[in-house]
Amino acid sequence: MTVRLGRGEERRAKACPVCGAPGRVVRAETLRALLKPEPGERVTESRYRFCGAQACDVVYFSEDGPQRFNREDLTVRVGVKETKGPRPICYCFGHTAEEMIEQIKGTGRTSVPDDIRSRLETEGCHCERTNPQGSCCLGVVLAFAEEAARRFGHGGCS
Ligand SMILES: [Zn+2]
Repeated sequence: MTVRLGRGEERRAKACPVCGAPGRVVRAETLRALLKPEPGERVTESRYRFCGAQACDVVYFSEDGPQRFNREDLTVRVGVKETKGPRPICYCFGHTAEEMIEQIKGTGRTSVPDDIRSRLETEGCHCERTNPQGSCCLGVVLAFAEEAARRFGHGGCS
C-alpha cells in the first residue's frame, strides 16, 4: 500500500520548515560535495530541497523528515543568502555579484555572462558539485545582470 500525501502535506514537504519558502530539488551529490565533513555524513537517500530565501539560515532540508542543513554546515558562502560581499554568483569560474556590479558601474555592462558561456564550451561546468543550488548558475547570473544594470547602469546604454 502506498501512502499518498494530501495536497497540503505535499506542499509542506516542499516548503522550507523554517521560513516556508518553496524549495528547489537538489541532488544528494550536491549536498555531499558542499557540506563540511561532519554534516555531510548525515546525508541520506532522502529527497532534498534548497531554500533560496535570503534571510533564512536553512540551506537544505529533506522532504521526508526534520533533517536540515544551515549555512554554517557548508564549506562555501551561499551567495543568495549573503548581504555582504563577496557574494559568489558563479561557483565554477569564481565570479561574484560585486564584480558584476563593479563592471556595470564602470562601463554599463558586464562581461561575466559571456565569460561563463565561452568557458562552459571549453572547460565545461561542475555546477552540480560547486553551486549550492546544484544547477547551472547562468540563469541566475543573467537575471542579476539585468537587475544590476537597472540599479547601477548608466541608463540608455546597450
Ligand atoms: Zn528557509
